[in-house]
Amino acid sequence: MSAILNTYNRKKISFKKGKGSFLYTNNGKKYLDFVQGIAVNCLGHSNSYLNKAIEKQLKRVWHVSNVFTIPEQEKLAKRLKQKTFADYIFFQNSGAEATEAAIKFARRYFYSKGQFKKNRILCIKNSFHGRTLATIFASGSKKMTEGFSPKVDGFDHFEFGDHKKLEKSITKRTAAIMVETIMGEGGIKVIPDFCLVGLRKLCNKKKILLILDEVQCGVGRSGKFMAYEYAKIKPDIVPIAKGIGGGFPIGAVLVNKKVASGMKPGTHGSTFGGNPLAMSAGNAVLDIMFKKGFLNNVRKNGNFFIKELKLLQRNFPKIIKEVRGKGLLIGLVLQTNQTDFINELMKNNLLTVRATEDVVRLLPPLTVTKKEIKLALKIIEKVCKKK
Ligand SMILES: *Cc1c(COP(=O)(O)O)cnc(C)c1O
Repeated sequence: MSAILNTYNRKKISFKKGKGSFLYTNNGKKYLDFVQGIAVNCLGHSNSYLNKAIEKQLKRVWHVSNVFTIPEQEKLAKRLKQKTFADYIFFQNSGAEATEAAIKFARRYFYSKGQFKKNRILCIKNSFHGRTLATIFASGSKKMTEGFSPKVDGFDHFEFGDHKKLEKSITKRTAAIMVETIMGEGGIKVIPDFCLVGLRKLCNKKKILLILDEVQCGVGRSGKFMAYEYAKIKPDIVPIAKGIGGGFPIGAVLVNKKVASGMKPGTHGSTFGGNPLAMSAGNAVLDIMFKKGFLNNVRKNGNFFIKELKLLQRNFPKIIKEVRGKGLLIGLVLQTNQTDFINELMKNNLLTVRATEDVVRLLPPLTVTKKEIKLALKIIEKVCKKK
């Protein structure tokens, strides 16, 4: 009997080691890992450059409080600032913490302007922003909030794609719209560029803030460093997490000057956030990701993968309903429940993970090779043929 609290339907498989795109079990079985800790290990398993960077930092200093200046944190913040819309960055330890901080920053901005009642956040129904009390109520999902009353107030909702409801839901009390640029857990739903442009315009018109949750789709996953770059817009607040530490837990919130003006010493904090060890991992990830051609390659491989999956969809329309995604954030929408399909893929040594709406998520490391993608395609085709 496991002593772990029963909150996951865990598969009875564990791994001894990982290297790049592959995981190995104790009895030597080899799996192509297209979960990668759910879009976390952007450089694959046991990347030697990342390992070395962390080892080097291990021998210097792991953790000091944010009451001191942390040079590794200053460095990572500066690099994120240089490559994004952001003027300032705050470091956390996870995605939920980062999105929750994003909510705090939005509310605090209007508070600092004397608009004390402008504090509601408008979100997409059944989106995903994490598992803290505030963020589950931000998602507005019945499944995630059930049993966790009293409700954390301050969130309103509209359905994905319902532009009319979106406009109608903005009131004098709305402080911000918060959406995932590409919905991850919600089924790899891409917000089209023209909608993102429209969202930005709408927020400007209503003088409210635009929060884009890029915890899953950010940090190279979409084929651009940030997924909003495709739409050529500038958000006000962006929480990131999953990919930035390459497997080390890091969350961060990117904000512009305007939003930053609402915060001052004592208004927010974190014990662990941004410690030297975590920052050495973040900096190492960016060393590799900012190399010339890296993101180009993610786009190229992503396009190839999606194109080939669409061919499979054409050959197996009774099994595959749709292929969605951008870069290496890809969802295979099935005609029926995806559990069997995922188990069959696993029997054939390909690891994938579900998302809502019968979606099989394919999340290779951003360092995946074309050969490995072809191997995955072969396995997916084999399982389709068997069905
Ligand atoms: C995973 C995720 C979160 C939560 O991140 P945790 O690190 O699990 O707290 C928040 N938002 C989005 C879009 C996510 O995909």
